[in-house]
Order: sequence, then structure tokens, then C-alpha cells
Amino acid sequence: MAAMATDTSARVVPVGDRSPSSWGLGDGQAIPWEYAPAPESRDIVAIRERYGLFIGGRDVEAEDGGTFPTVNPATEEPLAEVARATPADADKAVRAARRAQRRSWGTLSGRERAKYLFRIARILQERSREFAVLESMDSGKPIKESRDVDVPLAAAHFWYYAGWADKLQYAFPGRVARPLGVAAQIIPWNFPLLMLSWKIAPALAAGNTVVLKPASTTPLSALLFADICRQADLPPGVVNIITGPGEIGMRLVTNPGVDKVAFTGSTEIGKRIAKGVAGSDKALTLELGGKAANVVFDDAPLDQAVEGIVNGIYFNQGEVCCAGSRLLVQESIAEPLIDKLKDRLGTIRVGDPLDKNTDVGAINSRAQLEKITELVASGVAEGAELYQPACDLPDRGYFFRPTLFTNVAQSHRIAREEIFGPVLSVLTFRTPDEAVEKANNTLYGLSAGIWTDKGSRILEMVQRMKAGVVWANTFNRFDPTSPFGGYKESGYGREGGMHGLHAYVRLEDR
Ligand code: NDP
Repeated sequence: MAAMATDTSARVVPVGDRSPSSWGLGDGQAIPWEYAPAPESRDIVAIRERYGLFIGGRDVEAEDGGTFPTVNPATEEPLAEVARATPADADKAVRAARRAQRRSWGTLSGRERAKYLFRIARILQERSREFAVLESMDSGKPIKESRDVDVPLAAAHFWYYAGWADKLQYAFPGRVARPLGVAAQIIPWNFPLLMLSWKIAPALAAGNTVVLKPASTTPLSALLFADICRQADLPPGVVNIITGPGEIGMRLVTNPGVDKVAFTGSTEIGKRIAKGVAGSDKALTLELGGKAANVVFDDAPLDQAVEGIVNGIYFNQGEVCCAGSRLLVQESIAEPLIDKLKDRLGTIRVGDPLDKNTDVGAINSRAQLEKITELVASGVAEGAELYQPACDLPDRGYFFRPTLFTNVAQSHRIAREEIFGPVLSVLTFRTPDEAVEKANNTLYGLSAGIWTDKGSRILEMVQRMKAGVVWANTFNRFDPTSPFGGYKESGYGREGGMHGLHAYVRLEDR
């Protein structure tokens, strides 16, 4: 798979024979520390050869017996065969969810629902290592992220919404909160378990039942979650998980037995889903793409900002809808900041997702790697200046070097399109007005970052930036109590916090 790695070796800066003492001198050349391999053991996970659909509390084959493979993107080896649901299977899952909503889940008190959610949260924590290893193997993300971010945050969402299940009358004072019914939930491959928890936890807390479709490249953590549902004795049909191609997602969206659709993924598919729902009375939340501006002012602490920029774009290989993919830096500090950034890039470790020292793992799929490669090539062709640190990429697997583009114009594709990869485009500005104008000059409006020493400037910028989430002197911070969502082509509706609960209830007068 070496051929899939970017062919930009001619531009890669050689490490040479510098010593660690040359770090941070602004010469754009740092030498990485040597790390011994520290692979996490795979023994904790027993991956089955074949997985069925999880419908009505049972593991069932697809109606026509069809399957598809899921592949480890770091090795290109198949991990398991997974059932390929047919439209009839999707309909069956919706019926199972409807039955469970009427007969068991919808009639339980909030207090009883809470017990199940607390139980799920606790089991997720108990089995966290198993989930982290499986998630890294199936998605390519580094184990330190799945272990320290994805799985703990997923459990935190269940804890948080378990707390709301018996307090809906306090969440919406003076109103009666009724469940919507059956929720069809379609999730992407960049945070498979975490997106599952963002969707399932509030839905169940509010008394809905769900049919969830994970992305085809990352079905395994959702199927392991099915095992948790059984372990927690969740009534059959409350959670149903069906695997299969995008059309199966659309079948769910258009099924008349579905009352609510929640989607996270690309803007293109989000638009199709909005059309699929149009004309019905289904509730819809869409969490779509982004092209976030991370704005660094000249009074920002530069070393801290560099860490935030790195976290903003190289976390999870940049496969993050709210990634800080456009760095807007005040012109007077552009040179030292970019030098420091180049130094820091030289220390990022790319490689085996299961190695505990890995910072950037594998790109999720061959198709995504091709998309990144094509967009990076467009950046070079349009005249931007490419920088990639020297680093050895594994011979097999879908890997891509952390990439930095300077000399970027706003018209370049790399400044306009969501790359969803470890690629940063640097632009400059002179005044706050120019920063705001450039930051908002995008079709998207999901997130943004501001780096400055001045609280007043943060408050002013937050008001003027058209983004659902604005981080100040930090980036990519998530918390189950905070709402998350976008403007413009980044979608609508909010997930997280009480806003996320609101998206799963119908409010009636007392
Ligand atoms: P998609 O939007 O195609 O996939 C997201 C989910 O939607 C998956 O479960 C997918 O299933 C499902 N899906 C696909 N087609 C349909 C359909 N017609 N109706 C209903 N559901 C459907 O994202 P991609 O995987 O194709 O990634 C493409 C680009 O989208 C990325 O490069 C990135 O820019 C962006 N993206 C944004 C994400 C975000 O969090 N905002 C997440 C993922 C991607 P299946 O996997 O079976 O195709």
C-alpha cells in the first residue's frame, strides 16, 4: 500500500543529524525523540468471523444472507464479515423498534429507563479497553484517542442522559415532554462509538426506541454495543442495529414508521436526507461538514496556540467535522508561528494505531485516502506551498503525512472544501475585521477557535463568528452537557446537553 501514501517525498524536509536541543529554535526543523514500540494487546477483543444484524434483541442474518467485509485500515486485512441488511431487514428493525416503544420502553417510568442507561454507562466503562482496541482496529484511530477520548466520552453521554431520564419535567418546566417514537439514526466512521452514544443516549432517556445504522467501514463497535444492550437486559427492540450500504440508511429515513431522523455525515448525504424527510412530519437533526477557522492573534501565547492548532487539525487524522482546518494567523506573527508549527510537526508520530505512542493513525478507508491525496494535489497545482515533515509511513495501510500548506488563497479548494484529513491550510490577516470576514467566508458554520490574551476580544469575536461552537484558547473540547451543532451547510439541530434532549421530545402543554 506504499503507493497509496502521498507521493510528495521530494518536498519532505530531511531530518538530518540535528539534536533535540535544536527544538523550538524556529528553524522549522525538529528531531523526533526515539520511542520504543508500545503496542496495546489485541487479546482483550474477540472479533467474531461473522456478525449479524441486531433486531428485536436478537442476532439475525440478513434476509438474503448477504455480508460485506470490514477492513483494518492500518493493515488492509479483513477483520470480519458483517451482515448486509436488505430493505426488508430495515423495515423489520423499524417494526421491532415500534413494538418496543409501544409495549415496553414507552410505558416505563423515567426512573426505570434511567436504571438501564446507568447500567449501560457502567458496562461501557468496565469494558472500555475492549471497546478502545476494537475501535482503533476498525477505524484506524490511535489507541490513545479511543482509550482517552472516544470511549470515556461515550460512557459520559450515557451517564449524563441517564440523569435526565427521570427529570424531564425539570428540563422543560411547565411542559410535558413526550417521546417522539422511533428514531432512525445514521452515523459516520470518524467517531463510531461516540456518535452512537450522542444519538442513542438522549433518544432512550426521552423514551424513544432506535434503529441505528453505523458506517460501513466501522460497524464493529456498534455491534459490540449490541452485546452491551443484551448484558444490560435492555428490553428487546429498544435498540436495533443494522449494517449495510447507504441505501439502507435512506430506507430508514423514508420508512413511515420512523418519527425522528438523526444524521451525522457529509453535507451531500445530509441534503439527500433532508429531501427524503421533506413533506413528512418527521423531526430531523443534521450534523454535517465543516471548514473551521482557527484564528490566532498576535497577543496569543504562541507555544500554547501551536498545541491547539495541532490538536485542532491532526487529532483523529483530521477526520473531524469540527477540525480547525483553516489556520488564520495575524500577519505580524505568521513567520514565528509557522516555524514553531513546523518544528512541532516533526515530532508527530504517524503509524500503528494500536501503538500507545502514535499520534496520527491510519486514514479510515482507501476512498478517504484518495480524496485527501486528490485535494492535496489540487493545493499544489493551485500554487499553495506544501510542507510535510519527514516521517516513515508503514508499508501497508492507508497512511498520510501531517501536511501544512502556506501561501494559500481563499479561492483555493484546500481553503474551501472539507478535506477530512491531516491537512492544514494557513491564511493570514491584519485586522480583527479581516479575520472575521475570512473566518465566515465559508459555506459551513460548525466550529471556530480564537487564540488571544484578551477576554474582551474573545467576547467580541464569539459574537461575530458564524459557527455553532467557538472555542477560546483551546480546541476540540467536548462535554456531554454542552450543545454541539452547526449553521449553514453544517446542518441544524443540536446534540448534547438539554438541547440534545429537546431534539428527542415533543413538548405539550400541561
Ligand atoms: P457519508 O455522509 O456518505 O456517510 C455517513 C453515513 O451516511 C454512513 O453511515 C453512510 O453509510 C450513510 N449514508 C451514505 N449514503 C446514504 C444515503 N443515501 N442515505 C442515508 N445514509 C447514507 O460520508 P462518507 O463516508 O462518504 O464521507 C465522505 C465525506 O463526508 C468525507 O470525506 C467528509 O468530508 C464528510 N464526512 C463528514 C462527517 C461529519 O462528521 N460531518 C463524517 C463522515 C464524513 P455507508 O457508510 O454505508 O455509506
